[in-house]
Amino acid sequence: MMHPLLELVRERTVLLDGAMGTELMTRGLGPGVPPELWNAERPDAVREVHAAYFEAGSDVVSTNSFGGTSIKLAAHRLEGRAFELNLAAARLAREAAPAGRYVAGSMGPAGRFLQPQGPATVAELVAAYAEQAQALADGGVDVFLIETQYDLREALAAVRGARSVSPLPAFVTMTFASFPRGYFTLMGDSAARSAAELEQAGVVAVGANCTLTSEQMVGCVRTLRAASVLPVIAQANVGQPVPRTDGAFSYSETAEDFVRFVPELIAAGAGFVGGCCGTNPAFIRAMAQTICRKEQQ
Ligand SMILES: [Zn+2]
Repeated sequence: MMHPLLELVRERTVLLDGAMGTELMTRGLGPGVPPELWNAERPDAVREVHAAYFEAGSDVVSTNSFGGTSIKLAAHRLEGRAFELNLAAARLAREAAPAGRYVAGSMGPAGRFLQPQGPATVAELVAAYAEQAQALADGGVDVFLIETQYDLREALAAVRGARSVSPLPAFVTMTFASFPRGYFTLMGDSAARSAAELEQAGVVAVGANCTLTSEQMVGCVRTLRAASVLPVIAQANVGQPVPRTDGAFSYSETAEDFVRFVPELIAAGAGFVGGCCGTNPAFIRAMAQTICRKEQQ
């Protein structure tokens, strides 16, 4: 039987959510505090952000667990709480989800380079992602969203980790930069090769997030679409980050700039669309209206 989210994306464009960390900052999350800690300490704030995205029209929200592998949490000496914080992340999103909407378990990079560039081994990454996936599954997520991956080897390790503990489907988004020769991750993986290898590994949807603007994302979606039969996910950034005097960032595009390319993203083959850095519920609401207009045509 096909997963309901995969059935849905065959019928229409599925709307994901936007950024989480910056939304928590507007609710008082301080610099240097890992957002995952708020799953335990400020569950009301996390639930509120999810509710705001659902209210704006998201079909799917991602859990507040992007930095939730034990390896990443070790930077804050929270590695012993990885399971607890991921379990709470999944439960909070589930509690906020209205009937018929979905929760994706966010799994971001572990933040430690694989050998030979860094100290991490594939086995360590598989184990850390397995622990995270188990907690997210126990907390009730519908799918895993392995996201912002810059090394195809790590993305594949995350998929292996997830599959070792749960039958839930895995979505993967890699983060590509745009070059004259095409779209590549930091580690030099091309978009086409990434899509093909992830499909081979049993992933059910592939895509790109972060780094690229919605305008740049159009070509990347086209490349992914051509390289794989899987549904394509696109979650672009809002232009380029501009440093502010207070140390935070603002972004160079407005919601109107951002959504202007959404119809092109869909035409290029994106089935799942949402936002990454710089987006908030207002952007998702604008996307929902654009998608709705497009589908009425
Ligand atoms: Zn981003």
